[in-house]
Amino acid sequence: MTTRRSFLHQITGSVLALSVLPRMGWAEELSPDPKTPDGPVLRVAIMGLGSYGTRVAEAMRGCTRAKLVGVISGTPAKIRQWQTTYGIPEKNCYNYETYDAIKDNPDIDAVYVITPNALHHDAVLRVAKAGKHVICEKPMAVNARQGQSMVDACKAAGVRLLVGYRMHFEPHTLEVIRMRKEGAFGSIRFFQGLSGFIIGDPTQWRLNPQLSGGGAMMDIGIYSINGSRYMIGEEPVWVTAQETKTDPVKFKEGIDETIQFQLGFPGGAVASCLSTYNLNNLDRFFLDGEKGFAELFPATGYGPIQGRTNQGELQAPVVTHQTVQMDEMAQILLEGKQPVVPVDGQEAVRDLAIIDAIYHAARTGQKVRLGAPGQV
Ligand code: NDP
Repeated sequence: MTTRRSFLHQITGSVLALSVLPRMGWAEELSPDPKTPDGPVLRVAIMGLGSYGTRVAEAMRGCTRAKLVGVISGTPAKIRQWQTTYGIPEKNCYNYETYDAIKDNPDIDAVYVITPNALHHDAVLRVAKAGKHVICEKPMAVNARQGQSMVDACKAAGVRLLVGYRMHFEPHTLEVIRMRKEGAFGSIRFFQGLSGFIIGDPTQWRLNPQLSGGGAMMDIGIYSINGSRYMIGEEPVWVTAQETKTDPVKFKEGIDETIQFQLGFPGGAVASCLSTYNLNNLDRFFLDGEKGFAELFPATGYGPIQGRTNQGELQAPVVTHQTVQMDEMAQILLEGKQPVVPVDGQEAVRDLAIIDAIYHAARTGQKVRLGAPGQV
């Protein structure tokens, strides 16, 4: 059941919080400072002060359990700007040459790696070696073998590795998962995942295989892969895939433009998905079972997420995804809280193994069997 406290927690940082609370008559029950933490606070340094790093930093203003205290950046001007904007002390500022010294900084608990995909692996290994927890953006690595080595390194160093799967904390998504677990849709037979957008600037790192590790699949198709797993609630056992490319100049070797793929699940469900850099308006999940259906549309954008089931519109709080994610991750790291859908490194290795299999299937035309979790 949603308590007032958990509801307030869920909507932290959202416009809804500002507009709804007084009308609900709850204002008098709030503590004098609604941002007073009710437990230990995770002190975070962000690595990579780009577009998404900035979004996370802004969202963290609304956190009660996580606080931005440090930065790692290759751009001195950004460091200075972030120091002013977020009140970050000089002693918590690093560049890519100096950040191993973070091991001697007792004021930082975790580093959030938000750099281009292919740089995640080395960064996570170095942060782990420095003895700090790591939160790493998706895709965690560029293949499953690399991902597994990151999981192993963090384990050996005695630190936790989490991945920025913000949808795993999103209320509409969690409501569909709850209904599916309770049998509201009956036995699940079908999932459709559509993930794509038209990518702009051809010179950006996302279109450079050395930095991205792949194309649309690594960047946006991964949402349909991950979504098929949490919506159906099983791990796929086979993969087929077909690739099409309309612009081989923009989408050079190693950069997939469009891949359609299918996943088979042990309970008999099939997922049919589209990953592309060549179409907009593609952010939709559809889950169908013998008794009912659920649709999320949009399913993974920054929000508001919307959806419906055969029982009607989904009613769930609208949240700032990254605010909730960081507050929840603080509790996972500091108090051992268990999320409904895992966000650890092993969860990411499963997605990477499926991506490896999709690329193999698209290349060879074969139906690829998936092995034990984490192995193709
Ligand atoms: P940006 O290009 O906007 O930012 C990346 C930052 O990484 C740069 O600003 C730079 O910061 C740093 N960097 C270090 N080395 C390089 C390099 N060789 N080339 C380019 N940048 C470099 O990318 P995004 O913020 O959009 O994406 C970063 C990561 O976040 C990706 O893995 C992406 O998949 C993920 N992401 C996740 C989202 C989600 O919803 N979970 C949404 C968007 C992205 P500095 O100058 O400080 O060193």
